[in-house]
Amino acid sequence: MEFLFRFNKLRPFQDKMLNDIYKSISNKKSIFVNAPTGIGKTDASISAALTYIINEKKEHNVDLNLFFLTPKISQHAIAIESLNGISNKYDLNLNFIDFVGKQNLCTNTEVNNLESSAFYQLCNKKIKEGKCAFFNNAKDHIKYDNIAKEIKDAALLGHNHLLDSSFNYKMCGYELASYFAKSSQIIVADYIHMLNPLINASFMKKIGKDLGNSILIWDEAHNMLDLASSYLESSLTLFSIENAQKELNKIGSNLDLDYLKFMINQLADKKLSNKKEAFIEIDDISKEALNNEIIGNIEKAAVEYVVNEKAKRSSLMHIANFLKLLGNTDDSLIRIISKVYGKPKLELSCMYPKNLASLLNSSYANIFMSATLNPLDMYAEIFGVKNAVLESYSSPFPKSNKKVIIDDSFTTKYEFRSIEEYKKIAVRISEIKKKIPGNIAVFFPSFDVLEGVFRYMQSEQIFIQRKNMHNIEINNILMKFNKSNNSMLFGVMGGSLSEGIDYTNNIIKCIIIVGLPFSNPNLKTTMKIQYFDKLFNGKGAQYIYLIPAIIRVIQASGRAIRSESDRAAIVLMDKRYKFNIYKNIIKDSLPVNLSDSINEIELFWKEDKKKQQNMQEALHGKMCKEDIESV
Ligand code: SF4
Repeated sequence: MEFLFRFNKLRPFQDKMLNDIYKSISNKKSIFVNAPTGIGKTDASISAALTYIINEKKEHNVDLNLFFLTPKISQHAIAIESLNGISNKYDLNLNFIDFVGKQNLCTNTEVNNLESSAFYQLCNKKIKEGKCAFFNNAKDHIKYDNIAKEIKDAALLGHNHLLDSSFNYKMCGYELASYFAKSSQIIVADYIHMLNPLINASFMKKIGKDLGNSILIWDEAHNMLDLASSYLESSLTLFSIENAQKELNKIGSNLDLDYLKFMINQLADKKLSNKKEAFIEIDDISKEALNNEIIGNIEKAAVEYVVNEKAKRSSLMHIANFLKLLGNTDDSLIRIISKVYGKPKLELSCMYPKNLASLLNSSYANIFMSATLNPLDMYAEIFGVKNAVLESYSSPFPKSNKKVIIDDSFTTKYEFRSIEEYKKIAVRISEIKKKIPGNIAVFFPSFDVLEGVFRYMQSEQIFIQRKNMHNIEINNILMKFNKSNNSMLFGVMGGSLSEGIDYTNNIIKCIIIVGLPFSNPNLKTTMKIQYFDKLFNGKGAQYIYLIPAIIRVIQASGRAIRSESDRAAIVLMDKRYKFNIYKNIIKDSLPVNLSDSINEIELFWKEDKKKQQNMQEALHGKMCKEDIESV
């Protein structure tokens, strides 16, 4: 099979992956691809799907679309590069578009930096009233298919280029992207466009696409279930009600939110007594809170507040959105009351996104990819995808470049957490640091354990992730860490420093995984386990509690080795890593030794030094030979 592939050479295992994907799509079957970093999943999936689409057109005159979907915008760039590479190499003039959320393509500076829900309200208002000049201008040009070539060319380079070019031509970037999407066979978009049931139907209608003739590539697919659930979740606190009341007072509105205050306080008094959290039935919610007319008035007041006060965010808008979701009586959505710092909080949680399976089964085929799609049959079962192909691939990187060690001297199991244990962990981290010729990253199961251990660290330079840090602060930490060659990075597993991020140039020489990052065993987790027990034949604890924790470990430990020349030690620091229940799930990704971590690390880096010396000597020898020959 001749594939449309942008490079001249395939990487190890990439050939098999291309053929597996092509074969499964040809049979109209979905495929789950569990493949470690370095195989080139993005190129393989795009190449196989695109080759199939073009062949289908040639051989059967069938028009198919391709969606490349990612959880983060930053992951679009590589797909766009791959598409441009193929288009240029084969002179194909491919039509594709990098589609992102409306706000990221909005050229109207009066609204584009507002808080998200306020932005959507104001954008709609402006469109309805004919007051967005950018929208009107774009529509005028679209009507006569009169879009400058410069904008079309910019669109092929990615959403940022399209935004700049649209701004120069004073047109709405989102309207242009939607227009281009109609004639594009390939759409690179975010998960939210497909997985959020409140967005999906209008998105597909706007770009004129149908799921039945669309192949969906899901990048980093291990995130899908959590993200699909998160779009249906929200919370209400006494603090946000008080802020919203202040916003009403500022605009002189006579709307009164006391009924919400009363409701949330009463729910806490009645249901909590001496419990930390309690389940709330829909009948416990006051009728007034679910009244659509009142919710509509709160929404109008929110828009008025944002416009009059030039506010970037609005608690009123947040409350209106929360109340709209609160009325949903689907049994997969539950309501929980709790207290945070002594104040009541009402939370809406999704146990399982029921729309997921029907969406996935309605498409032509799906390609699910991740380095942690393990166990594959679990993902096929929880996504509800029928007759899927399940494939796992080996790492293309030399096994000898990674040393994985279990250090069983400690545990962060809840009942054993103590100042003494934290002190011992801090001492061991420092001992390991001394043996490592460069930076190390330490990932913890929670911020509590991170802070607990950090307190006893002495003198080393440590960049530390704090709770609720903004992206800017995280980027700042990363910038400093990347510039250093003898520091430590402290982060949490499942966080932005331990997943979805590439530490290039072998900047991390050792990763220490402290403890096991199980979800908080709170009421939400307990109810989710029970829900999954019913859906998946008693496998709730395994699917909700055990496997996600191990996936966080594998994700965090995979940050160090991103290319075939990278070399790193990984220390799993907890007694529990010896237990078969964890070892059996981890073993394919992290083949472990139980041993003395300090000695093993010392040997590993001695080996590395020797290797480097040998390489230098060989290089020196080669140069000498060449010198002699040239003489
Ligand atoms: S119509 Fe377009 S340019 Fe105008 S506010 Fe909405 S997104 Fe922005």
